[in-house]
Amino acid sequence: MEAAGAFRAKLLSWYRNVRRDLPWRRTPTDPYRIWISEIMLQQTRVAAVIPYYERFLSRFPNPLSLASAPEQDVLAHWAGLGYYSRARNLQKAASQMPGGEFPRTYDEIRALSGIGDYTAAAVASIAYGLPYAAVDGNVLRVIARVENDPGDIKSPKTRARFAAIADELLDRDQPGDFNQAMMELGATVCTPKNPTCLLCPVREECKGFAAGTQNQLPIKIRDGRTAEVHITVVIAERDDGALLLRPSKQLAGFWELPFDLAGVRDLERVGSFGHQITFRKYTCDVVRGRVGRKVPVGTEWVARERLAELPLTTISKKALRLVDR
Ligand code: SF4
Repeated sequence: MEAAGAFRAKLLSWYRNVRRDLPWRRTPTDPYRIWISEIMLQQTRVAAVIPYYERFLSRFPNPLSLASAPEQDVLAHWAGLGYYSRARNLQKAASQMPGGEFPRTYDEIRALSGIGDYTAAAVASIAYGLPYAAVDGNVLRVIARVENDPGDIKSPKTRARFAAIADELLDRDQPGDFNQAMMELGATVCTPKNPTCLLCPVREECKGFAAGTQNQLPIKIRDGRTAEVHITVVIAERDDGALLLRPSKQLAGFWELPFDLAGVRDLERVGSFGHQITFRKYTCDVVRGRVGRKVPVGTEWVARERLAELPLTTISKKALRLVDR
């Protein structure tokens, strides 16, 4: 991502001011407590988790006490949280810690029962400061919007791309705080419905906000249904006829008109058209505008005579047809 440094600094400074005082944040270097909180928080709201967390830890304060407890006792302390396989896996994982020592590396944590990529990264980064990006549903949503990426977040390919972006954004000096800040942003500001963009610390870095697509993202395609995607295609032309283009994010090897209005002025609406790619139904608004001498990061001027030899995406071709009529 362009401007990753500004994104990190703004996000972290916001997080330090607004972070909620939660019991597991008072013991940030205790991997056992962080792990219990992360497992309890799966599919359960923070407010509902707090009393269970405190009761569970006063009965099972460390891995040894959890591993040696009767299973019925563990389940009784879990009763009400649901998804009992989580409690069984906690006990199984505690018994996989020799001498009750919580593992110290990401790979060892990831190998415990019931721990996936997200939980391993959350525990490793928060408790040990290891540089692993924790990517849950909140983080996927924030990335889809910040990058204005209409990829289907149910698809493994999109998830892998978003995980790579999260890794690129991660503050390697403060990975625990950074991961918690991303999750806090998704939970409290960049919410699934009606994100409060006006209060968002990374609004200036958010391409979805610039394009006005934040309420349509992320895209989730279920059971072959079609997803509606609204995008704004920008035609910026220089006096000598050169066009502003960028390498396509969706189609490797192709070029496209940018979708981002940041840095474009004197906007004029040209028209709109529809376009469908597999399960995605796009409504494309086309605008024309001018950019200053400094072009947006990731874009470049391409002379008109070179256009014929460049592979352009179909959406860009359709947009150009509206002005070349
Ligand atoms: Fe989410 Fe809005 Fe912030 Fe973008 S500006 S990250 S859409 S809350």
